[in-house]
Amino acid sequence: MEIKKGSTVISLVMGDITVEETDAIVNAANSRLAGGGGVDGAIHSAGGPKIMEECRKFDGCPTGKAVITTGGDLKARYVIHTVGPIYRDGSHNEAELLESAYRSSLDLAVKNGIKTIAFPSISTGAYGYPLAEAAGIAVRTAVHFVENNIGALSLIRFTLFSDAALRAYTEALKKLAS
Ligand code: ADP
Repeated sequence: MEIKKGSTVISLVMGDITVEETDAIVNAANSRLAGGGGVDGAIHSAGGPKIMEECRKFDGCPTGKAVITTGGDLKARYVIHTVGPIYRDGSHNEAELLESAYRSSLDLAVKNGIKTIAFPSISTGAYGYPLAEAAGIAVRTAVHFVENNIGALSLIRFTLFSDAALRAYTEALKKLAS
């Protein structure tokens, strides 16, 4: 599914984010930027050691913020590493922090002249964020960003790794678009 807001397309696809050809892909990193499993591990192994070399120059990254590195050997020129919240019970600022992770990534993209960006479903793997809620926050934050930054980006894609994730994001985007 995709929608168009002004000149920006927001699209949902199923696939592996490490092969995306967008200017930047977003990594669901941890606050030490230390690499790990899930999409983080996949990005570092596909992108090679240059990405970690640049990650080491930062003093980690707080939850809800983002940093940018080279894309190394990836097709994407940049990787934006953002840290989503670990989900506890929903009363520990999780929603605000997840929204902030998406918004910080989008801000950083625009600052770096990036026009096309692909996101994974941040926090919904090892960090345990309920998928339907996370999907709602992700697509709402993208739509609000586009409304407040008209023409800044041409494509925001969510590259989802499972049928369940694609369904949840499709539901969320349909609700917003209706
Ligand atoms: P977090 O710690 O933020 O929860 P995870 O990497 O555990 O991060 O999971 C985030 C999401 O990324 C999950 O929905 C997972 O299915 C998905 N994912 C894992 N590998 C890939 C990949 N290669 N491309 C896109 N999404 C992926």
